[in-house]
Formats: sequence, structure tokens, C-alpha cells
Amino acid sequence: MTALLELRDVVAFYGDFQALFGVSFEVRPNEVLAILGGNGAGKTTCLRVISALLRPRSGTVRFDGQDITRTAPDSIVDLGIAHVPEGRQLFPDMTVEENLYLGSQLRRARSHRGANLERMYGLFPRLAERRKQMAGTLSGGEQQMVAISRALMSEPKLLMLDEPSLGLSPKLTEQTLAAVREIAKTVTVMIVEQKVMEGLEISDRGYVIEHGTLVKEGSAAQLIADPSIREAYLGL
Ligand code: ATP
Repeated sequence: MTALLELRDVVAFYGDFQALFGVSFEVRPNEVLAILGGNGAGKTTCLRVISALLRPRSGTVRFDGQDITRTAPDSIVDLGIAHVPEGRQLFPDMTVEENLYLGSQLRRARSHRGANLERMYGLFPRLAERRKQMAGTLSGGEQQMVAISRALMSEPKLLMLDEPSLGLSPKLTEQTLAAVREIAKTVTVMIVEQKVMEGLEISDRGYVIEHGTLVKEGSAAQLIADPSIREAYLGL
């Protein structure tokens, strides 16, 4: 099967600090792929390399049959990669609906804006109730819904989510991740999660990263059953 996204031997630094040590993985069409690992393992750095926010020192990134290693960040969005960063980065003084509109600026998405907006309100009914409310006054869970919806408004081929459960209660984590499963019916999803078990429960496959190196890969079922992962990450 041809991968939608492929990283090969990616090495990345922040100044003198090496964050990734030759990372290779792929995201297959229509799957939910999880990158799992503890604090500072390099999960966000993988997403920043894909979005071209950080240039790799070496290695390649391919998307949809094209080498995008040297592509500019705005062109990456045009190609169909939407990145929901950790911390959400909404415009707090704009309404929910205005934030969502900002996601639909690309030519391919502009003409479907109304239909997509209704789709988002169907996915997250809470946002429909709050469409005129300033985004900055929403709860953390609601802000996460806006951030995910805004990314989907660009009609991406690949949705990348950086720790969508961060700062959410267990109940809201469960609801948000259930919504990701729903979203995955129509778009390929790559999710980065520190909550290893929760991440695996909604994923098809996963990779575990430690100190900038991938140490495990497998189907979600294999990883959930793996004794070393259960011991290291699940506290069992
Ligand atoms: P977290 O769950 O804490 O976000 P992560 O797995 O996403 O962890 P990264 O953000 O990818 O981790 O960070 C990997 C390593 O790179 C960490 O040791 C971090 O301190 C370091 N790092 C990240 N951003 C920078 C930066 N701008 N300058 C220097 N070092 C950085």
C-alpha cells in the first residue's frame, strides 16, 4: 500500500540540541496513526518537521507522492496537511464562527464553506450553540473542538492533532477522542498523544518514540497487549 505520508531517516535539531535521531514512519491512507511517548520524547517535533515549521538536518518527508522536505509551510497547507497545534492557537477575540471561517480560506474549501460549517456543527453540537461567543471565553474542551473544526474547514487529506486531550478532564478526553474517530471516517488522521492508552484506543496503528528515536511500532491491538508498553506507559 502506498503511504500518504512518509518520513525517512529524519534528523532534527534545535540549535545544538538534537531532538530527532533518524526517525522513519508512514501514515497510510484512511487510517488513524498514533505517535506515542512521554514528555519531551520528540512527538511535537515530528509534526513541526512535517509542517515545515522546523527544517530537518537530514532525511526526507514525502506526502501524497511528492517530496515536501523543502516545501514552504503555506504550500504544505495547500497540499492538504492540516496541523492542530498543542495549545490550540485560536483567535480569542473572534467568535467561534469567525475562527471557523478562517480555516476555509483555501480556494478548494471556500465554495463549500457553508456546508462544511454545518458539518462541524453536526460533529460538535456545542459549537453550534456557541457560534457567536468569543473563542477566548470557551472552556478548554470547547476550544479544542474549535481548533479541530477550523483545521477540517480547509478540507485536508491529512489531519495532524497534537495532544488533543491536553488539559481536558477524563470525560472530555473521551468525548474529544470519540469525535476524532468520527472524523477519521472521512480523513486520514495522525495523532500525537502522551496518554498512550487513550491514544491507542482510537487508533489503527502506532509508533512509540523515546528520546527522539522510534522504539516500537505495531497495530493498536499489538501495542496495547505489549507487556513492556503496559509497564512503561500504563502503570500496570
Ligand atoms: P511534550 O509532550 O512535552 O510536548 P514532545 O514529545 O512533543 O513532548 P518535543 O516538543 O518534540 O517533545 O520536544 C523534544 C525535545 O526537544 C525536548 O527535549 C524539548 O525540550 C526540545 N525542544 C523542543 N522545542 C525546542 C526549542 N524551541 N528549543 C530547544 N529545544 C526544544
